[in-house]
Amino acid sequence: MTEILVLAEHDGESVKKVTTELLTLARAHGEPAVVWTGDGADGARARLAEFGATKVYVADSTDYADYVGAPKAELLAHLVTEKAPAAVLVAATSEGREVAGRLAVKTGSGVLTDVTGLSDGLVGEQSIFGGAITVQSRVRTGTPIIAVRPNAVTPAAAPGAAEIEAVSFAVSGQAKAARVTGKVVAERGERPELTEASIVVSGGRGLGSGEHFALIEQLADSLGAAVGASRAATDAGWYPHQFQVGQTGKTVSPQLYVAIGISGAIQHRAGMQTSKTIMVVNKDPEAPIFELADFGVVGDLFKVVPQLVEEIAKRSAG
Ligand SMILES: Cc1cc2nc3c(=O)[nH]c(=O)nc-3n(C[C@H](O)[C@H](O)[C@H](O)COP(=O)(O)OP(=O)(O)OC[C@H]3O[C@@H](n4cnc5c(N)ncnc54)[C@H](O)[C@@H]3O)c2cc1C
Repeated sequence: MTEILVLAEHDGESVKKVTTELLTLARAHGEPAVVWTGDGADGARARLAEFGATKVYVADSTDYADYVGAPKAELLAHLVTEKAPAAVLVAATSEGREVAGRLAVKTGSGVLTDVTGLSDGLVGEQSIFGGAITVQSRVRTGTPIIAVRPNAVTPAAAPGAAEIEAVSFAVSGQAKAARVTGKVVAERGERPELTEASIVVSGGRGLGSGEHFALIEQLADSLGAAVGASRAATDAGWYPHQFQVGQTGKTVSPQLYVAIGISGAIQHRAGMQTSKTIMVVNKDPEAPIFELADFGVVGDLFKVVPQLVEEIAKRSAG
């Protein structure tokens, strides 16, 4: 079977969940070979093996963390030439998308972004126009470069050898044009990362003020969920912009998305429409968000949410 390269997302110690999703997807279409940049590969090997990685190509240099996107694209282009993989999978995160675009140019290949599934012949599935249309596309030129939306695939374990192979590759000066001069770790307390969480609870303008986001946080914490927000809420300064879900915010695809006091504008849908189950609380039965909802409560969020929190607490205690 031909290799499929999977660019690992990691923090130098632990493998991000999206990488286990990419490995699960890659396994169905070839032999998943992880491309690991920087250090930490030895510590992560067991986890990569658990999800079926046959190989781990390690490019152990600080260049990949010290410069923006381009060095990773250069490394992948080198591996595409060397290993002739059937495809390259990256996470459709902001960095993953940048790497995918650069790699496509470097290798003269087609690229699919925001893919939510892959069928035989590496046909990618994408969900567009607020989830109203599902598009199937296939790359016809070069090596398919496929950026997969986090949380679109349920990771499943299957053992692999995860044999480590060092890659000696010198990043060019040109790829070092934009240097990372500092990093600030976003404060999110104990809650899961928004794009990785399996449950997201989001609040919108219906909350009426920033203080009322405490309700959203309470509900999120009772479910072990991440907190999201509509742009109306972040623009009003009620919640930080980094939690905005939508076209100009984060794309999430959790198992459960709870939208509270959010009308369901197309730009908001663009960031959450592929969630597996969508639950809505809105006092307006005509709100467009109900078109997407699997479960909907027509009611005042200030009455419904506290009752929800209470019921969840009872069940957790029982
Ligand atoms: C270029 C562009 C990009 C954009 N990008 C994004 C984006 O990334 N993300 C995004 O979210 N938006 C984005 N928007 C904005 C988007 O068009 C909407 O304006 C925004 O999503 C509305 O947010 P909302 O649903 O919270 O507010 P509203 O549309 O005002 O909806 C509030 C909802 O709360 C309900 N409500 C009110 N009070 C209660 C109550 N007590 N109990 C229950 N329900 C109640 C109302 O019935 C209403 O449905 C973008 C717009 C543009 C033009």
